[in-house]
Formats: sequence, structure tokens, C-alpha cells
Amino acid sequence: MVNSAADQDESLRRPAGIHSVRLGDTKVSFVPDGAIQGRPSAWLPETTDEFWAAHPEYLDASGHLVASLGGLLVERGDRALLIDTGFGPHTLPADPGTPNGAMRGGALLDNLAALGRSPEQVEAVAFSHLHPDHLGWAAHPAQGGDRPVFAHAEYLVAEEEWARRALLEAEGTPKEAIAALAPHVRTVADGQEIFPGVQVRITGGHTPGHAEFIITGGGTRLIAFGDSMHSPIQVDHPEWSCVYDHDPARSAGHRRRLVAELEEPDTIGFGIHFADVVFGQVRRDGHGPAWRPLDTRDDAGDNR
Ligand SMILES: [Zn+2]
Repeated sequence: MVNSAADQDESLRRPAGIHSVRLGDTKVSFVPDGAIQGRPSAWLPETTDEFWAAHPEYLDASGHLVASLGGLLVERGDRALLIDTGFGPHTLPADPGTPNGAMRGGALLDNLAALGRSPEQVEAVAFSHLHPDHLGWAAHPAQGGDRPVFAHAEYLVAEEEWARRALLEAEGTPKEAIAALAPHVRTVADGQEIFPGVQVRITGGHTPGHAEFIITGGGTRLIAFGDSMHSPIQVDHPEWSCVYDHDPARSAGHRRRLVAELEEPDTIGFGIHFADVVFGQVRRDGHGPAWRPLDTRDDAGDNR
């Protein structure tokens, strides 16, 4: 089912709540942690102020792009995998010197509970990449101690990403966060199955070892494409790389292939930073490929 045009407009400028999709025996849910605002022509440097003036449907009342922060819970029977862990319990004010507006995390564990899971039940945490807005709760100690929040989880990181962690630190991932992950890290390779029906695909571009996750079940394929795209406008314009892309040309090349792939039948995309349209399909309108959000709202909890 696809939302009405009016609903879609509103959903492009608010952060995502809980959404769930069923793929056969597998349930896949977005677990919200918070939101970040981006200055549109700073986040997507190839865009102009004129472009955004013509597309106010993407901007909040303060003129920012709205991006969700969170993780993707993959459940099959009793088993649970979490892909990315949000920003964690931190708030940053808007910093006029950076491309970012305000940034806030903190809701992920409450939303995990609303979905009926405790962090102790998560058998593994997989990371799309090692930026602070994806490893937040995994690098944060559990309340009242120094044990990790995901007490029984191993941390799955692409080999290429882990090997280049010094570069990621140099670009701003806190050393302390990498050190907190280190004892739990198991590196994974391109094509590896990390959970029943979940395969890693290393794409690079955004970071040296950026990973996507292909989740299959019930005859459908879901591509959790991490930070390959930050906004659904990049489906219309895959040539536009984000200011945070490590290799913008590689990122753009991959995005073109990804958008074409998302147009294939029985394929769903998951964009972790998309506004309240995290699950969708790519369909052609009069202007070319466009993001068509799925109506996947889950009522299990107040999540914004
Ligand atoms: Zn990110």
C-alpha cells in the first residue's frame, strides 16, 4: 500500500517512527533513536538554494533536511540481529560552522522495548560503517556499569572498514568509541551470511568499507543501503553525493546501480537516514525513478 500524496509530503519532513515489514518468517523493523537536521545545499553540495526553494516539501520549518537516526532490527523466531545502533544518548546543538543542524539521539532502547526486545536478546550488531551516528549505543556502557548495552552481541564490521579505522578516527569518529567496540568486533567479508537470510555487501564510497545488507524472505529482497543515500531526493538524482561521502565518485557510481536495482520486482529499499519514509520502492514517474514509501507505520509505541 502506498501513502497518499498529502501524507507523503508531511512524512518527508519529520523523522521516522517505528516501521515494520514482514518478509516471510522474518520481521524487519526500523528502531528510531532520534534525528539530525542537515543544511540542504551543504549536505548535497551539488544542489543550489534555488533547487530547494522549488522543493520545500523536503524541508522542515527551519529550512533543514530532516534525517532519521536509528537501527534496523531483524527478527526471525527467537533470534534478533540489529543493524546500526543510532547516535546514542547525546544531543548536539546546531553548529553554524558545519553542514549539520541540531542532532539528537536517545530513544533507541525505548523503541526496542516497544518492539518487544531487550538489548540482551540481540545476538549480533552489524554496522553499515563506523560513523558516530551508527555506533552510538554500541559504544555506550549499560546503565550503572561498564558492561556493553548489547551484553551478548558480537559486533560485525566489514574487514575493509575495520582495517581503515585510523582513517575514520582522523575524520571524526571518536577514538574512545572505536576502543569500546574493539573487544567485541568480528570482521565480515563481502557476500558473507551473518544471520539467516542476511548477506553483507561491501560497497565503499561513503566510507572505505561501507556495507549494505541484503535481507531475503518470503520471495522478497530488502536492501538496507545504509548511507549510500541520505535523502530520497538522491533516487531522483543519484549523481548527487553527500558531503560526508569519502569517495564521492565511487558513491555516485554505486548509487546509480543501486537505484536501478531498487526498481526490480519484489525489491524493497531501507534508507536509515530517510525522513519518515525509511522503507520504500523505486518506481518511475514522468521524470524518472522516484522513491515510493511503503505504508509500514507500526503503532507499537510513541517514537518521536
Ligand atoms: Zn550516517
